Amino acid sequence: MSQPRIVHTRSDLQSAIAAFRKARERVALVPTMGALHEGHLALVRLACGKAERVVVSIFVNPTQFAPHEDFDKYPRTLDSDAEALAGENVDIIYAPGREEMYAADFSTRVLPDGGPAAGLESDARPHFFGGVATVVTKLLLQVRPDLAVFGEKDWQQLQVVKRMVRDLDIGVDIVPGPTVREKDGLALSSRNRYLEPKHREAAPALHRVLNESAVLISRGAPIAQVMTSARHEIEKAGFTVDYVEARHAETLAPVADAHHGPVRLLVAARIGGTRLIDNVPVPHGKD
Ligand code: AMP
Repeated sequence: MSQPRIVHTRSDLQSAIAAFRKARERVALVPTMGALHEGHLALVRLACGKAERVVVSIFVNPTQFAPHEDFDKYPRTLDSDAEALAGENVDIIYAPGREEMYAADFSTRVLPDGGPAAGLESDARPHFFGGVATVVTKLLLQVRPDLAVFGEKDWQQLQVVKRMVRDLDIGVDIVPGPTVREKDGLALSSRNRYLEPKHREAAPALHRVLNESAVLISRGAPIAQVMTSARHEIEKAGFTVDYVEARHAETLAPVADAHHGPVRLLVAARIGGTRLIDNVPVPHGKD
C-alpha cells in the first residue's frame, strides 16, 4: 500500500489518470467534501474492491450551499483526511481549489428538473441539487472514471445522480454504498461534530423512528398515519422536522401504500442548529 498522491490541479490529475488508462486499469472515483469518517472510508473500500485505481476527491462545493448555510463553517481537514486515506488503497486525492473548479466567469449549471430531485431536500434547499449536479458532472468529466461511489446516506442525492448520468449519457457506473452508523444508530456525518452532548444523545431517535415506521408499514399499517406519528415522535425527541416522508425508492414519487414500492422513508430534521438527514428501506413482505 503506497501513500496517496495529493493533486490540486486538473492537469496533474489528468496526467496521473492517463497513465492508469494506458495500463488499462479501471478507475473509481469517490467524491467527498472531506472531514472524512468511517462512512467515507467504507465507500473507498468498496471502490478499491471494484477498480485497480481509486481517486478520492475532496472539495467543499460552494454552489450547493445557500448564503445562509454552513459553507464557511464546514470542516476542512485535508491533513487528517490524507492521514485517514493513507491506510487505504487510494492512489490519488484530488483536492482542487475553488478557482480550479469555478473560473471567475463560470456561467453554466447542470439543473436537475423534477424527477427524483422534486421535493424533500429541494423544498428545504432549492439551490442544492443544481450545485451537486454541476460539481458531480465536472468531477466525472475531469476524472472520467469507470465507476463512482455514492453513499445511500444521501439517498435522494444518489437517485438524482443516477438519473442525471442516465439522462446525460455520461457513461459511468454509479455504485451505492450502504450507510455506516454509530452503535446507537446515528448515521455518521461530517456535521455530527456540531452536535452538543444533549443533542447528540437525542439524535439516534431519527433512525429509531424511521426503523419502527418501516416495520409498521411493511406489516400493512397505513402510510399516512404512520408518517404522522413518526413526525410527532421525532419532534418529541427535540427536533424540528423539515420532512419525514415515504417515497418510491428510485423515482422518489410520493407513495400511497407499500404495494407501490419499493418504498424508502426519508427524514431531514434540525436539532440545536444542526441539520441531519437519514433514510431506511421499508422491508418487503409482511413480516
Ligand atoms: P459528503 O462528504 O458528506 O458530501 O459525502 C461524500 C459521500 O459520502 C457521499 O456519497 C455521501 O453519501 C457519503 N456518506 C456520507 N456519510 C455516509 C455514511 N454515514 N455512510 C455511508 N456513506 C456516507
